[in-house]
Amino acid sequence: MYLRVLGSAAGGGSPQWNCGCANCIAVRAGHAALRPRTQAAAAVSADGQHWFLLNASPDVRAQIESFPALHPRRLRDTPIGGIALNNGDVDACLGLFILREDQPLVLYASEAVERGLREHNALTRTLERRPGQLIWNRLRAGDVVPLVGAAGPSGLTIEAVPVPGTVPLHLKGLAAPSPEDNLAFVLRDTNGRSALYAPTAASLTPLLDERARAADVVLFDGTFFRDDELTSLGLTTRTARDMAHWPLGGADGSLRWLAQLPCRRKILTHINNTNPILREDAPERGELTAAGVEPAYDGLEVEL
Ligand SMILES: [Zn+2]
Repeated sequence: MYLRVLGSAAGGGSPQWNCGCANCIAVRAGHAALRPRTQAAAAVSADGQHWFLLNASPDVRAQIESFPALHPRRLRDTPIGGIALNNGDVDACLGLFILREDQPLVLYASEAVERGLREHNALTRTLERRPGQLIWNRLRAGDVVPLVGAAGPSGLTIEAVPVPGTVPLHLKGLAAPSPEDNLAFVLRDTNGRSALYAPTAASLTPLLDERARAADVVLFDGTFFRDDELTSLGLTTRTARDMAHWPLGGADGSLRWLAQLPCRRKILTHINNTNPILREDAPERGELTAAGVEPAYDGLEVEL
């Protein structure tokens, strides 16, 4: 299995267009200790030829262009067999509308995510101009589903693992909360290799812990280092936990949990532009290294 991180930043990217935090200023200035990052998404493949996207980020067009394996091979074509959506957030879904050029799209999503897009968003109609343009494959908690593209079975399966999260902000008051609002994915190949992709997680559950322990590689929510990361900057009154992100640092942070997982590589993704771990010379980055955890960057590839 091949896994490529297409984007490693949380919503807004790094730098974020309207952000003048110390990190964003440093990225714009080309500081050597930080690199620019697009919004979180990944691509997986069993053979390096046929690919599936994990989320369609707002930066999907640039992400496809950045990775030749995703380029068309004929006049109208894509090696992207399908797209799995882990939740209905703008960060995860906005890229679908960038991929609208009359291209059939195969989607894998929970009922909650599908309903959010089909029943509460007129833009989705631009992806459904003709029958069969959008093909929805339902992900139910606990199901293991083969990933099948236009070229046939991919040799990969996907398991939907419900993870504590939240209804997307734009659906609050419109859609009732569902345990399938937020998923992690376990990707498995025919050799028994597996990767856990959990870019957004509010907290740990026994099932998430079990799947992480069994995985060869874990990509996990690295949004915030501290619970008060945004409140201390005066940007919001909502803490990381209020925003359904388990912070990394502290005695009850996710870093301690990640450190004791037996998997080969533990990688953080969906990293907010305010997070101090983005700086190679930050003490928080040292804590990561000591825990055997690495921050993802755009273009990071893992072969399993
Ligand atoms: Zn910033």
